[in-house]
Amino acid sequence: MQHIQSLQSLINELCKLPGIGVKTAQRLAYFILKKSDQNIPALVQSLNDIQANVKLCNKCFDFTEQKQICDTCTNHKRNAQNICVVEDPSGIQKIESAGVYNGLYHVLHGSLSPLDGIGVEDLKIAELFKRIEESLVTELPITEIIFALDPDLEGDTSILYISKQLSNYKNIKITQLAHGVPVGGDIEYINYRTLAKALENRIEVS
Ligand SMILES: [Zn+2]
Repeated sequence: MQHIQSLQSLINELCKLPGIGVKTAQRLAYFILKKSDQNIPALVQSLNDIQANVKLCNKCFDFTEQKQICDTCTNHKRNAQNICVVEDPSGIQKIESAGVYNGLYHVLHGSLSPLDGIGVEDLKIAELFKRIEESLVTELPITEIIFALDPDLEGDTSILYISKQLSNYKNIKITQLAHGVPVGGDIEYINYRTLAKALENRIEVS
């Protein structure tokens, strides 16, 4: 087959997506090309839209559309004194689907991984402490931080680092998902019932 540079560039870009190998990228690229008159404008439009419209909430750093503060953070029916710390916005989706948590969230946008060069300043850690500090002078100070990070080395390293700093706040309980969440698993791949149980039976970080 002759080399088509534009096609190769598309395949290269698709390969950067998580879980997409070369074979899948090629299949997707050919699919996009097949009905290019229909597929490409819609795809380009939605990529442009998310780039233009989707922002990070200034408080929890979840994705939000055209707002400074997201709907979850401004929902007064939720318990603003509990903050569940997740690695990515997808973690919020998962926990919401489990249907047992009514507090707020904080997205770190990754986890500490010195080997990959991801340090404290690369994550929304300072922002978490700023939120805590700001809450302490309100009527609804934060009373519990719940870690729902992936049960891997990076997740554990992050919990250790953050909870050490949190121990300065005597009135804040620090918890994490109960054991039973498969070690080495990813919280995106465990089922809702397991996650609901792990949340309800959460344990204190020692
Ligand atoms: Zn928010």
